[in-house]
Amino acid sequence: TQRKVSTGHQSPGLTTKDARTLRVKMVLLGSSGVGKSSLALRFSKDEFKGTSPTVGSAYLTQVVCLSDVTLRFEIWDTAGQEKYHSVTPLYYRGAHAALVVYDISKRESFTRAQMWLKELQQHYVPGSTVVVLVANKGDLSDLRQVTLQEGNRLAIERGLLFMETSAKSGDQVNELLLAIAHRVKRSLNEHEG
Ligand code: GDP
Repeated sequence: TQRKVSTGHQSPGLTTKDARTLRVKMVLLGSSGVGKSSLALRFSKDEFKGTSPTVGSAYLTQVVCLSDVTLRFEIWDTAGQEKYHSVTPLYYRGAHAALVVYDISKRESFTRAQMWLKELQQHYVPGSTVVVLVANKGDLSDLRQVTLQEGNRLAIERGLLFMETSAKSGDQVNELLLAIAHRVKRSLNEHEG
């Protein structure tokens, strides 16, 4: 199941539609069931479906307005490719942000997140992709198997942005998107400057 790419833009730099609107490709990675599709829905519509949502073949979008620039996020979901513990190189190509997601109530998904980080390293352009470690299902604190400190430590070791979210309650989802928007903007400025 390949994603449809609406235009031919695939360069790591942001594509300027006009002087103030930038197109941002953001990809979601992580084991099945960690909440990637649910997060994608939350990012784009602030919606949560109790059942497993299917995002379909097109990416979801969300517009984030910062003081001096507007970022139009295209949020790509794996649509089940992750079952094979790998996704097509096309998925990563030109990604400005990559989210590696795990489920705080499943230790296995945290172990897998470290594999996804390794796999990601083989594809992304260092410095031009903002990589984020996302501890999802923060609402399931009674079932927690991975501590906040463990997530934080891994993120610090790898120099990643880290946030604990809940796609179910919506907790920290907007904050995460905003933090990514600021990082992507900064990374663009550094590449231009
Ligand atoms: P994906 O396979 O990574 O895309 O995961 P899904 O988005 O399909 O979610 C898998 C299951 O976890 C679904 O039943 C979701 O409703 C549920 N889920 C997703 N995010 C959360 C969350 O933050 N908290 C809780 N409690 N359940 C969640």
